[in-house]
Amino acid sequence: MAYQYRCDDCGTTARAVATRPELAAVKGRHRQLAHHGQRPDGERVEIVGIRQRASWRTGCGALALVGLVFLDWLVRHI
Ligand SMILES: [Zn+2]
Repeated sequence: MAYQYRCDDCGTTARAVATRPELAAVKGRHRQLAHHGQRPDGERVEIVGIRQRASWRTGCGALALVGLVFLDWLVRHI
């Protein structure tokens, strides 16, 4: 489970973070930089699952691992 900060006022979606302190830091930084320290009306936090956090790099890494395991199996059985 992770938290993702979104601000509909300026159409921003921050990267997902794993802890509430990280979320508070992301939220505070966005408020300071984009809204002069004020709370925008359109801000919200979404709880995202592990599938949404996984990037294409994670998928490529998993695919490469499966490929290596398959090649290892193939070498041992030929
Ligand atoms: Zn904003």
